[in-house]
Amino acid sequence: MKIMICLISIIFCLTSHLWADLQADQSQINRFRERIEVEINEAIDVTKLLSRGIQLDCCSRITNNKVQVYATPYEQELIKNMGLKVSVNPVRIGKNSRDASYHTYNTLTQELQRLANKYPSIAHLSSLGKTVEGREMWCMKISDNANEDEAEPKFKYISSMHGDEVVGKELMVYLIRSLLDDYGQDDRITKLVNRTQIFIVPSMNPDGTERHSRYNANWIDLNRNFPDVENDKNSDPKGRAIETQNVMKFIAKHNFALSINFHGGAVVVNYPWDTKSGNPPYVQLVKHLSLGYSKRNVPMFNSTSFPQGIINGYDWYEVDGGMQDWNYHWRQTLELTVELSNQKWPDASDLGKLWKDNEESLLWYMSQTHQGIHGTILDSETNAPIKATVKVQGVEKQCSSTETHGDFYRVLLPGRYNLTFSAPGYASKTITEVEVQDTSFSPTVLNVKLSAN
Ligand SMILES: [Zn+2]
Repeated sequence: MKIMICLISIIFCLTSHLWADLQADQSQINRFRERIEVEINEAIDVTKLLSRGIQLDCCSRITNNKVQVYATPYEQELIKNMGLKVSVNPVRIGKNSRDASYHTYNTLTQELQRLANKYPSIAHLSSLGKTVEGREMWCMKISDNANEDEAEPKFKYISSMHGDEVVGKELMVYLIRSLLDDYGQDDRITKLVNRTQIFIVPSMNPDGTERHSRYNANWIDLNRNFPDVENDKNSDPKGRAIETQNVMKFIAKHNFALSINFHGGAVVVNYPWDTKSGNPPYVQLVKHLSLGYSKRNVPMFNSTSFPQGIINGYDWYEVDGGMQDWNYHWRQTLELTVELSNQKWPDASDLGKLWKDNEESLLWYMSQTHQGIHGTILDSETNAPIKATVKVQGVEKQCSSTETHGDFYRVLLPGRYNLTFSAPGYASKTITEVEVQDTSFSPTVLNVKLSAN
């Protein structure tokens, strides 16, 4: 038996070293990758590129048969030998990218600090931790009583994990300003801030952005760095990029109801899964939310590349170890990936229009945390909050209540549902025929008491 355990630990050590080496190799290879455009002849070519380990950025094969990839000189030769035409296509930096409309790390820091100081009761600035080069990963929490953890749904937007995709970072600043400046003036924004705990991380990869690079300072692609739905057995932050670890730890502390992460290089809502084929759990809701975002953004909805401006991630191109899938699979948080602009770093004069294109979608999507069922789960004798599981019959994903308040938030489409609440040490309870209506800011409220066994 002892020998067996020894053998297993040796194999485990060897494979974890191999895995670490593989990741290190990837980052060494990324150092020599440049962004190129490949003209493809047929859809199968994309699969062939992937099977040769070529890193796809994004592809718009539906209109012009072109894909963007990150390839080393060796990989570029490999692609040419497949009979495909390649041309160098670096991320173009907009002419006025250094004017006041684009924030550097320092000016972003100053602006977030200015806003947090100006609105101390509804804005709370913190950091998820430091990056490789010691920059802070700023997170602005916006809510009434922003300094407290309240019994309100939690929501997050994270942008620019690819450092050269910067439109989202700027739109997050527009959004933060709008939520804070219009609080108390605009009815919808006031309701959103009063009833939601909103977390916004404008720049997940500030080191990359400072050097106009997709990768972090150790040449790691953060959107290939999360535990994968298929290839990883557990969700362990160990051995990953520090930025990935910081985000994983941040998300583990909260119970987010909904989320989006922002990229650039196309204009589309990309929904799970990215890593495997087939529908994600509760695909009706996933598509409803994706369409809800795209149809409020005219250029996105009228896209000639993506019907109605949405696409299943895997149908577009496979991403392993992405943040979106990790959220939905490991954390039960439905996350979409939104690509905001065809040009990753457009001229600063385009930002105002991009904000206008996305403003309504951003606000609408946040308000969807209030569509469905909200409630608390308490001990029937002591009224103590219980961390319990909430299962909705016929809906694949479950959610849970928090330890601190016993509160839960289940986003659901209109309909009638049977819900089962269960927690260790308590008798489960099922409540049937709960009606959910299509109303903004009026979720069905369900307060449940469980009796100890
Ligand atoms: Zn990206």
